Formats: sequence, C-alpha cells, structure tokens
Amino acid sequence: MLQDLDIGRLENEFHNIPPRPEDILLCFSKDQVLLHRDGDDFLTLPTLKQMQIWQGTGSAQYLFRMQDQNYFLWTDVAPSVPQDGFTYEAARQLRQLKSKDICFAVMTGWHLYNWYRTNRLCGCCGTPTEHDSKERMLRCPNCNNMIFPRISPAVIVAVTNGDHILLSKYAGRTYTRFALIAGYTEIGETLEQTVHREVMEEVGLKVKNLRYYKSQPWGVDGNILMGFYCDVDGNDAIHIDENELSMADWYPRNALPAHDDGISLTREMIRVFEEGNEPR
Ligand SMILES: [Zn+2]
Repeated sequence: MLQDLDIGRLENEFHNIPPRPEDILLCFSKDQVLLHRDGDDFLTLPTLKQMQIWQGTGSAQYLFRMQDQNYFLWTDVAPSVPQDGFTYEAARQLRQLKSKDICFAVMTGWHLYNWYRTNRLCGCCGTPTEHDSKERMLRCPNCNNMIFPRISPAVIVAVTNGDHILLSKYAGRTYTRFALIAGYTEIGETLEQTVHREVMEEVGLKVKNLRYYKSQPWGVDGNILMGFYCDVDGNDAIHIDENELSMADWYPRNALPAHDDGISLTREMIRVFEEGNEPR
C-alpha cells in the first residue's frame, strides 16, 4: 500500500530545525504541488537551494524525514511557475503514479500543510498561534490554547455474501472506478457502529461478523482509514442511496470486473478477496 515504502518508513517525529540547501521543499498552491515530472512515474521535488535561486529568501517549516532526506513545507508565498521544468500539478492526482514514495510524502505533506494553514489564528481568541519548540503543536500565546494535528477516522468496508463481494461506484464524482463502502466516524460512535451505519445508509444492508483488516493514512483527505470485512446479515437485496452512489452490486470472487492493483487500502482489499485471502 501507499505507506509501505521501498526503504524504511516515514519518520514523522517533530524536529525544531532549519532547512539546509539540499533539503526537499513541498510547495503547495491551492490544491497543487510544485514538482518536476520526468515521464509518467518519476517525480522530483524542489530543494531549498533551488527555491532560494527562484525566490530569493523565504521561510520553511520542518515536516518529516523519509529515506535519509528531510522534507520541509514552504510557508512563504508560492512562487509563480519557475524555470527548470518545474510545474504545479494537482496533489490529489498523484496517487495514480507508481512512484509511491514521493506520492506518500506529498499526501502526508498536504495533510500537514492544511493543518498549518487553517490554524494560523487561535480558534478561541483570534490571536496568531506560535509553534511549540518540542512537538508538533500550535499554541496560543494569549490564552494557551493548544492545537494538535487533526486526523479524521474513517472506515472502508468490504461486504461479502458467500463468494460475492459488494462493489459500488460513487455518484457525482470524477473518481469512476469501483469502490467499497466508506464513511467517516461520527463523534460518539465506535468504528463498528460506523461500519453498520454506513452500510445501512449507502446500500440498505444489515451486516455481521466484522473482521478488522488493516489501516492506511490517507493524507489527501486528512484521514486514517480502517478497513473491515463483514458478512451480509439476512436479506441481500441492495437499495442504494442515490445521493452517495451511482450503482452497487454483488460480484463473484472469480469474475470481478477489471481493477488495477493500486496503492490504496480499497484496491488491496478487493485484490485480497479475489485471491481468497480475506480474514474469515
Ligand atoms: Zn487564544
């Protein structure tokens, strides 16, 4: 999956350090990220040295470390499209790429970028916040309000019916591939209750025998996704919520519609079912 990197892992411990010339910068502009593309799958992100040549000076916030490289967030005004073949591309589209290491760094950086930019002022008193020196936390110097990164829990649900799995497609979205049932956990709700509620809301089915599978950080939407398999309980007639889904149906394990391997938890859960290896 996306977070399973070729070497090591994303080291997300906070360090209060300034950037060096060779460190990588994530520079976002609205929903786009600055990068250099060499073919479909090979991406390069700018370094501080390059950014300083293009922009003169500017400020950067430490984010994380991955594969012996530090990643910083460019916190100044985003440069207009610079020289050297760098362009802005939609951060959300990068998940289609095979260079998943860069993709994971961009998606995680995007999650942090959104957190930093939406918490520049204290939500209690409106005073500009300051970064804590020891951990990733913003503090209000006036009322001492402490703001930690926000992660939204959500479930991905593969509903099975013997040797069939429920596949669906979202309504009104540009994403047109087959999906599993998905939804956010509400305040005051357990993950298991989220599974029962989302399946009932979206396809009108009761489910039982929930089996937790794996989780996946999904920074582009600020999520931690948790995957479950479960069995339909009783009546298997599907009634879709047309606001959420354009279609949903049962598909047999040995004749699933074409689906790519992909790097998402959804793709992996469909593939694991196809191979007959889902938790029972
Ligand atoms: Zn405050």
